[in-house]
Amino acid sequence: MYYASETMRKLKKASIRVTDIAMQYWCEKQMELNYLFGPSFISPDKVHAGKEMHEKLESEVSVPIILQPKNYADYLFKDFYKGYTSMSLLNKNKKAREISIYGMVDNFKLIGKIDEVDINNGSTVIVENKTRESTKIPSEAQTLTNKIQIIIYRKLLNDILQERFGYEKFNSVYSISKMYLTDEFITQLDALGIEKNLQSLNEISKRFFDSIAHIKNLNDEMHLRYINRNTGEVMKSIKIKYDENYAMEILSFTMKYWHGLRQALPVPEKEIWKCSFCKFRGKECKVWYNGAE
Ligand code: SF4
Repeated sequence: MYYASETMRKLKKASIRVTDIAMQYWCEKQMELNYLFGPSFISPDKVHAGKEMHEKLESEVSVPIILQPKNYADYLFKDFYKGYTSMSLLNKNKKAREISIYGMVDNFKLIGKIDEVDINNGSTVIVENKTRESTKIPSEAQTLTNKIQIIIYRKLLNDILQERFGYEKFNSVYSISKMYLTDEFITQLDALGIEKNLQSLNEISKRFFDSIAHIKNLNDEMHLRYINRNTGEVMKSIKIKYDENYAMEILSFTMKYWHGLRQALPVPEKEIWKCSFCKFRGKECKVWYNGAE
């Protein structure tokens, strides 16, 4: 596999997730250790419950597409098809959910999933929903990581809207012309009645990027919502104003790690409290551990 840097090789990563960048603002070292030793403090039950809530929200606006990819090309097709159909119905449904977003920063591939795109009073608004089990309002440190996430989504959208990234760049970086859908997957597409001229990765990726590039009146204000997992109630809603300079600052700071220009940073002393929630403390990470406990 091709790795864009030694850091990517060390973590065995072909692309950077937007959530990795957000996590760098919680604890970069923890983010790295998650890749080296397995995820930190989120229990599989919580991940499952969060996923269920997102699926419930998604099912309110779209019919689930039952396709079972057999290889990476099939997987990309499914992702683009789902994104393209949801974005094509945005004006009608006023809402699209779980839209994948692709881009490049320096020579790194970036990927993420925008939780929600809404049409609100004629403008298009990006929304990130975070489900919480706790009824406590999230701390500033928690909201910061979520804000970073939504800002980078917006930056990637801007890159497509301003033609800094799109189908052609994607095609050259991912070499999709050399990928083929499996026969089994094509049979599934036929069974769903998907037109033959759409059944190629080239065509569906073109349509996907085109549907993003045609977003109208993208609002500079983005919404971050915290939702109680048990009741579905919105506990807190935050409005974030997009600032391209700030987005560039975030990327410039975080990419230094991915380029290997610095080691992963642990939390600063004033944020040692985060270590009590971290399973690596005292084991793989002894930065703030004096061995007393
Ligand atoms: S113990 Fe603290 S500094 Fe070390 S990885 Fe965990 S959160 Fe980061």
